[in-house]
Amino acid sequence: MSDEIARPYMEPKDITATAKSQASLQQQLWEVTQTPWKSGILPSADKLTRARANLPPSLANEGMGFEATKQHILNDIVPAFNGSSISPNYYGFVTGGVTPAALFADHLVSSYDQNVQVHLPEHSISTDVESNALGLLVDLLHLERADWHNGTFTTGGSASNILGLACGREYVLRIAAGKSGLDEQSVAEYGLFEAMQALGISGIQVLSTLPHSSLVKAAGVLGIGRANVKAVCQANSPLLFDLEKLELELARSEKASIVAVSCGEVNTGRFATADIDEMRELRRLCDKYGAWLHVDGAFGIFNRVLDDSPEFATIKKGVEGMELADSIAGDAHKFLNVPYDCGFFLCRHPDEANKVFQNANAAYLTGNRDGSPSIPSPLNIGVENSRRFRALPVYASLVAYGRTGYQAMLQKQIRLARMISGWLFDHSEYNVLPEATSKEELMDQTFMIVLFSAKQDRLNRSLASKINETSKMFVSGTSWQGRQACRIAISNWRVNENKDFELVTSVLRSVVEG
Ligand SMILES: *Cc1c(COP(=O)(O)O)cnc(C)c1O
Repeated sequence: MSDEIARPYMEPKDITATAKSQASLQQQLWEVTQTPWKSGILPSADKLTRARANLPPSLANEGMGFEATKQHILNDIVPAFNGSSISPNYYGFVTGGVTPAALFADHLVSSYDQNVQVHLPEHSISTDVESNALGLLVDLLHLERADWHNGTFTTGGSASNILGLACGREYVLRIAAGKSGLDEQSVAEYGLFEAMQALGISGIQVLSTLPHSSLVKAAGVLGIGRANVKAVCQANSPLLFDLEKLELELARSEKASIVAVSCGEVNTGRFATADIDEMRELRRLCDKYGAWLHVDGAFGIFNRVLDDSPEFATIKKGVEGMELADSIAGDAHKFLNVPYDCGFFLCRHPDEANKVFQNANAAYLTGNRDGSPSIPSPLNIGVENSRRFRALPVYASLVAYGRTGYQAMLQKQIRLARMISGWLFDHSEYNVLPEATSKEELMDQTFMIVLFSAKQDRLNRSLASKINETSKMFVSGTSWQGRQACRIAISNWRVNENKDFELVTSVLRSVVEG
């Protein structure tokens, strides 16, 4: 063992041997993950206890070697994993799975371990591939490359929301300075306090409706403050904008504002904006008051992948006009079905992120020196400098399945969600939420999340745990308008509408029948 790690570098024959043993390990892992998930979706208590008991209490002086470690991990730790990504019946959070193409690519990402930070076109193709993958993603979302082929891959929706609010924070203060004829202000350059003081404003506010918790977290991280994320919703509908209320907030002279659209609300899967007209109005108001328009589209933005068939016409209105935004946050590890962790940030202003995230005065990080690089170095666009090549699984999956592959995947997920919604609507013991007046309306508005509760309070209180105890499927418990509720979020490529409908309804039936 000590030999194994003491050598400073590997001989070519060692590399081949390692690659071979990795290949056979990968083959085994491949088989594990490609066979239908047969065990319970959550590991048994026994397996968890056993795994915990086998974790070393402290670092040993002598390592146990690669072979023994492999056995330990495969025999003790892996059995205590859950099947959240591998089983199509794990409906917690919005989880996604991993497509075969993405899994293949992800193995290569680890094996070759490219660091995608500086664009060095003579050193590696990786930055080109990342930029290409971003372009393919922009195509998938029916956005114009001329406007939107900017941005970066991130660790997920939360990181992308941080980038969106950081760019917004930078932009709104620059606009405010321009409007008042003051010197340009930059939070990244001079600091938040100095910029605010120079502008004579008391803060930045984020105006939204049912924002995801990570957007509020982003406000906390960025010195905007969680308390300055404000609801500007209609009195009887927490997800819809009250445009009058919004304008009153935007007009406050002591605040600079960012408007954040919940393009896919995490409990209901519904959309904050009604159609293109509403997005045009949001754009107009943001331009009038110098605000930034950010879209949190973690999973919802993928609604734009759907074709124009009448079946999806209602929900597609909820993603109309997203091209009018300044920035879009999205998740690839959800709907795109690539491994954790992978999100993306798209921005219509190509230089904005660089204003915030640049590595100033680091000559050794500048990439190619002759003229401006065709591909900006990722380390000047996002939080990290050294970065995983997380774009490769996205690239692989988009190249492998194309637009129609992803359309088909999403259609199956929506159809299953609608079949379950309709069944729950008709069931005497369940409510589907938010309450719909007709089954037809409910079906039309259902994207890939089903929110529901049991009518009987007693059952409702333990509903999620009763469902999850079956270990046949998994739902997230949540609350809706002060009452407990469950959500079924369907985002795995392995969905099979009829088979999964049978399974879900048989579990839900058995739970009410006790
Ligand atoms: C999941 C989600 C996020 C956070 O994404 P992570 O990838 O978990 O960081 C943000 N916004 C919405 C709407 C989400 O659904």
